[in-house]
Amino acid sequence: MNLILFGPPAAGKGTQAKRLMAERGLIQLSTGDMLRAACEEGSDLGRRVQAIMNAGQLVPDEVVIALIEARIGEHADAPGFIFDGFPRTVAQAEALDAMLAARGSRIDLVLLLEVDDDELIARMSKRAADEARADDTLEAFTRRLAAYREQTASLIPHYIAQGKLIRLDGMAGVESVGAAIDTAVGAAHA
Ligand code: AMP
Repeated sequence: MNLILFGPPAAGKGTQAKRLMAERGLIQLSTGDMLRAACEEGSDLGRRVQAIMNAGQLVPDEVVIALIEARIGEHADAPGFIFDGFPRTVAQAEALDAMLAARGSRIDLVLLLEVDDDELIARMSKRAADEARADDTLEAFTRRLAAYREQTASLIPHYIAQGKLIRLDGMAGVESVGAAIDTAVGAAHA
């Protein structure tokens, strides 16, 4: 089973991905985590993307597509993947569809976490206090929300057309959202 956790920044995708990973043994693939690790290592890739990330803009499609392709290849025996923060553009979604199809696989479910802007900003501020992410400033976060609306939200029709999108109330607490995800995943399995 391959899932996409979809939604704006700070909607709770990472939190729910970690829960699903612990409970179902799926592999979480977060391009944001991979890129932050590259920045921390100071690798060539990290140096290339750091300023883009700090500004709250999207890194080039080919960079994240290559990261995902490499990770999928490392986990050939995985029971499935949770894509978190990827895809974010139509080109990324098409590349992912092709990558999975080449392995005789597909995306089974796209879970859209819907959260109001005021709540997203409140969650981002709380995370900024806990984790000190360079892009969790109001200015960068406003750009990330704009990037979501302008480049990423257009994927919603792509997955509606494939009959895979489920909308969930991301305003609810972590436990309630987790329960709603379990119900959706269970129904998709049945
Ligand atoms: P995230 O942790 O998913 O919010 O990602 C943090 C930052 O990493 C984003 O604001 C982008 O700069 C970059 N990033 C992560 N995933 C992607 C992606 N799929 N496409 C383009 N940029 C990405």
